[in-house]
Amino acid sequence: TRPRVYNFGAGPAALPLDVLEKAQREFLNYENTGMSVMEISHRSKTFEILLNNTKQDLKTLLQVPDNYKILFMQGGGCTQFSAIVYNLLEVKKQQLPEGEEFNPPLDYFITGSWSAKAADEAKRLYNNVNVVIDVKKSNGNFGSIPPKEEWKLSGSKAAFVYYCDNETINGVEFPFIPDIDPSVPLVCDMSSNILSRKFDVSKFGVIYAGAQKNIGPAGVTIVIVRDDLLVKPKSINDQDKGVPVTPTMLNYKIFADNNSLYNTPPMFSIYISGLVFEWLLNQIGGVGAMEEINKQKCTKVYDLIDKSKIYRSLVDKPVRSRMNAPFRIVPEKLEKEFLAGAEELKMVQLKGHRSVGGIRISMYNSVTLEAIDFLINYMIEFEKKHT
Ligand code: PMP
Repeated sequence: TRPRVYNFGAGPAALPLDVLEKAQREFLNYENTGMSVMEISHRSKTFEILLNNTKQDLKTLLQVPDNYKILFMQGGGCTQFSAIVYNLLEVKKQQLPEGEEFNPPLDYFITGSWSAKAADEAKRLYNNVNVVIDVKKSNGNFGSIPPKEEWKLSGSKAAFVYYCDNETINGVEFPFIPDIDPSVPLVCDMSSNILSRKFDVSKFGVIYAGAQKNIGPAGVTIVIVRDDLLVKPKSINDQDKGVPVTPTMLNYKIFADNNSLYNTPPMFSIYISGLVFEWLLNQIGGVGAMEEINKQKCTKVYDLIDKSKIYRSLVDKPVRSRMNAPFRIVPEKLEKEFLAGAEELKMVQLKGHRSVGGIRISMYNSVTLEAIDFLINYMIEFEKKHT
């Protein structure tokens, strides 16, 4: 059997070995039930405790204020592209005086492939999507975040402002929280950098993250939503013209009112996520400690790339992602050899996304400093061989 590898995958990504081993020990007999966690009822006391502990640990890790709900939803990050539009249009609709024309803009920052996809979905569902910035359109490619003077925000009229904190494919991460009209809910896709650094939850209306990078296995999506944005979906009869009606399974209030147990949740994914939260709290020492380690990891990687004659970063320094470092090798024909050599040394999933090409190092929370050192050593040797 193959020994465990150094996994630099962008997602599904590496999980902490401690977590996998604990799950293995508990696999056949969870909490002395004589069953695996996949075989118990989601309405059992055992699962209720698991769910509530998991929620509480996440609340502690991110210091989620009391006026927010933590939801465990399904359908991955992509389902939230639609859920956001539905839920927040319902909210805005219910704030509007009767009879007034309803067509608030939805503001989107497009800084990479994932926010572009989210904006496309919004345009499918609704006819007033406002692009605040589209970096590819203005600069020819993703890899920067233009200054505030270039943003075209709609102000207080908007139903929400949307951005993706870390663009997994393009390696672009916001070094700040965008400053917007405080009356407008700020919505953020944190699928690939949640729990990697401290941030102020109270600045946001909705935060969501698919699990399969920094949280756990694919299957569960974490949604953190402010209480005032929980509204019951109206049905089609009292719908304003052209405004979508929220499907029950995408409605945040339904999930909040039912403690994420409206239907059967992805129990195994939630269970493993809970183990990851325990690991972060007890082994790492919380998000602040994790942030320090992550900083060391990406600093090592970018320092090497910047000093190198053959590695070339694709992203402006101030907005380089701490989680995903895409780069090219000059000449590009060396990239194949680089990947094959890495593979031989048990370093896997380093190939860049097909839309960007080249190499991508993903260094999520579970990727250790030791793994990064091992990779950096290889990169140095590879460069020596080719210069
Ligand atoms: N947003 C970001 C930032 C992502 O990286 C991804 C997936 N890699 C998604 C959304 C889509 O997530 P999913 O595949 O869970 O739908």
